[in-house]
Amino acid sequence: MPDEMGKPLIRERGEGGGSRHLEACVSDPGAPVIGILGTGDFSRSLARRLVASGYQVVVGSRTPKRSVALFPEEAEMTSQMEAASQADLVFVAVFPEHHSTLVALKPVLAGKTLVDVSNGFRISQYGPSNAELLADLFPESSVVKGFNTISAWTLQMGPRDGSRQVFLCSNSQKAKNSVKQICHRMGFIPVDMGLLSSALEIENLPLYLFPSWRVPILSTLALFIFFYLYNFTRDVLHPEVTAGKSFFYKMPIDTVNVTLPSVALVMLALVYTPGLCAAFLQLWWGTKYNRFPNWLDGWLTTRKQFGLCSFLCAALHAIYSLCLPLRKSARFKLVNLAYKQVKAGVEDSWVDEEVWRMELYLSVGIMALGLLSLLAVTSLPSVANTLNWREFTFIQSTLGYCALSMATLHTLIYGWDRAFDPVHYPFFLPPTFMLVLVLPLSVLVCRLALFVPCVALRLRQIRRGWERSRHIRFTLPTEDCRNGMEDVSNV
Ligand code: NAP
Repeated sequence: MPDEMGKPLIRERGEGGGSRHLEACVSDPGAPVIGILGTGDFSRSLARRLVASGYQVVVGSRTPKRSVALFPEEAEMTSQMEAASQADLVFVAVFPEHHSTLVALKPVLAGKTLVDVSNGFRISQYGPSNAELLADLFPESSVVKGFNTISAWTLQMGPRDGSRQVFLCSNSQKAKNSVKQICHRMGFIPVDMGLLSSALEIENLPLYLFPSWRVPILSTLALFIFFYLYNFTRDVLHPEVTAGKSFFYKMPIDTVNVTLPSVALVMLALVYTPGLCAAFLQLWWGTKYNRFPNWLDGWLTTRKQFGLCSFLCAALHAIYSLCLPLRKSARFKLVNLAYKQVKAGVEDSWVDEEVWRMELYLSVGIMALGLLSLLAVTSLPSVANTLNWREFTFIQSTLGYCALSMATLHTLIYGWDRAFDPVHYPFFLPPTFMLVLVLPLSVLVCRLALFVPCVALRLRQIRRGWERSRHIRFTLPTEDCRNGMEDVSNV
């Protein structure tokens, strides 16, 4: 027995494998024999996981001897024909360009299940998918699309939370069920995507590059560039051009630190703008059953991403602000100011208004960042899943508007009376905070408008299915038609 315990869980033929980490089982005699065509990365990882899940695995290769050392000893390495004949179910771990080289296996694969694990080359809107082409090549086999969203690495390391789902589709329910069983046994969660016509969608899944983040990230970048150039023109270019003073040292920290909160506030306002647009459209239409325009639909679904981009900018602004006193330039300025005041005989430089302004400005800013952090944390799926709908909307909507109000107040306090001082209009450009405040203030005013009782009531009715064009219209009977009948047209 001690000898047995000393043995590795899965023995390797070569030295390079890592299957020792897998929790191997003795193969289950009742389980189907699984064939894998191809001996590449995917095949190797799949073979290891299947062996560890108790399956008997037979791997088919054009040159079986070449890769034999890379597979666990429990997996049988043989020719493609032999593997296809022995297996009950076959994984095709070969690039789709080479599927046609497998046609010689057609007779032995007839009646069996083929699992197509291939990915597309690029995102394709129009078929046919690789799986459908494979099904055309092997009309007597049942093709199941799946496992393409799972990387060889994930297969090797075992399923983790983020990558447990395996999307499956097939025209044969029986074949799909047998692959589902294999998924379960390997520790994955099969997700039934229906018929083989869904294969294109499944093949596209691993090729998307942050599809829901594209617009929020581009908006953040565009706003950042706009506000950075605006601040640069006002704070760096203007003194250079008009007074020959070089303030270029402001570019890495000062200018960035004025730009970041501008982007954060506008992005936060953009989180709540589509909801308001939707509400006003519904009030205008008098129904909730009209479809929103596509741009609004897309915007509504990316509010979380807009919010997270806003949070990132706000957090960076906080860090930059904390670093401001560490700069040499700040120290020089402070010393120079003190020296000038001593020289001018100023004994007390305390300005009450300035002190209050700064205290309020910081306090409200910290509150806004705290609320934004809460919104960001609750947008994480693992946290959001622990909240019921009311709790989630309370945090995302009520506290969200509180965060927006706080951030707006933070900016208003920053502005204080600067909007009324002509010194703050270099090149006739208004201060940045004035531009920034336009959208958040509009959003807050529109939100307040929705609180007006008659508007709120009508919106609530609409959201519970009331429609203006379908409700019963009662009209007063006319002089010549006083028979007590109401006009119920449009019912
Ligand atoms: P790979 O390392 O290039 O392996 C492909 C295998 O196909 C080769 O080892 C070869 O094995 C076999 N093959 C059979 N006929 C062939 C032919 N005519 N020409 C060239 N090779 C032929 O590729 P892979 O990374 O394992 O990927 C295999 C499939 O899995 C692809 O469709 C890919 O999209 C999919 N996939 C891969 C991953 C991943 O993480 N790698 C993830 C998801 C999906 P023999 O020489 O032994 O016959």
